[in-house]
Amino acid sequence: MVDTFGRNISYLRLSVTELCNLRCRYCMPEDGVCKKRHEDMLTQEEMILAVRAAAALGISKLRITGGEPLVKAGIVDLCREAAAVEGIRELCLTTNGTLLPKLAGPLREAGVNRLNISLDTLDPEKYAYITRVGSLADALAGIEAALSCGFDKVKINSVLIGGFNDDEIPQLAELSCRYPLDVRFIELMPMYDSGDFGPEAYLPYTVVTERLPELRPVESDGGVARLYRLPGAQGNVGLISPVSAHFCAECNRIRLTADGKLKPCLHSSDEISLKGLDYEGMLETMRSAILAKPKWHGVLSYRERSQANRNMNQIGG
Ligand code: SAM
Repeated sequence: MVDTFGRNISYLRLSVTELCNLRCRYCMPEDGVCKKRHEDMLTQEEMILAVRAAAALGISKLRITGGEPLVKAGIVDLCREAAAVEGIRELCLTTNGTLLPKLAGPLREAGVNRLNISLDTLDPEKYAYITRVGSLADALAGIEAALSCGFDKVKINSVLIGGFNDDEIPQLAELSCRYPLDVRFIELMPMYDSGDFGPEAYLPYTVVTERLPELRPVESDGGVARLYRLPGAQGNVGLISPVSAHFCAECNRIRLTADGKLKPCLHSSDEISLKGLDYEGMLETMRSAILAKPKWHGVLSYRERSQANRNMNQIGG
């Protein structure tokens, strides 16, 4: 479906839970999330109904995210049902990877085509620090599991955090040489409660090309990342600049939160509830939400923080 500003909206990010088995400092509070009432969250049936409505409006790419989607009971069945929805041509999932050793095979078999795995550091102590509770060994085992299961694409997502992982840019990028995967660096977004990191932690994407002058530009794959490649690499290095150079003019996505709020724009507080609606209701509400998608999200910086009023784990990154 084409929105008011001529953008073809073809991509839905569906957050299936706000819960996570990690506590990344820039993403969620230390004590996790205040667990909402079960009846306030979308049921699995409602999620699939929403995917069907979205597909009927022209959504062909679906990303399952969270929270951590792999902590959701029944995630494999949910993926299988979503993959079977007519019109969904690409099913992607974003995860911290730690539960992939058990779930990568079943997810692939259920129809997940692509995996994005979040990894901000290759240092075990720094991994334990940034995630507050996680183990790097689990995340690396998850990446190995993903690579052995034949996904169409595996990408590593690293958030650039000044003073934390900028010294690791070469090692993280080098994963694209060692393994058949893409590595993407993403600017840290000033979300609602990313309190551990202030303006000094924000780094523009250009820091990557400065640190790695050997990166050579490659043709875009139509996504939001600027693509490069290291000499002899098996995969690309992608740079994503939500803060320094927004891509609102090309934004083709809408988001649906685990508590049923449709968000036409990540950084806007506008939310439209789908909770409790039937298929027709979801279709009409989604259509109006797409038409209400703003032209752009306004200035975003550490002075002009995101207006989303939610942390990323409550939106779906
Ligand atoms: N649990 C899954 C994971 O770790 O990938 C999926 C959810 S997580 C919210 C999705 C992505 O959002 C992760 O790659 C995470 O690093 C990113 N993210 C969270 N907060 C962010 C922020 N303030 N700025 C940029 N990226 C952020």
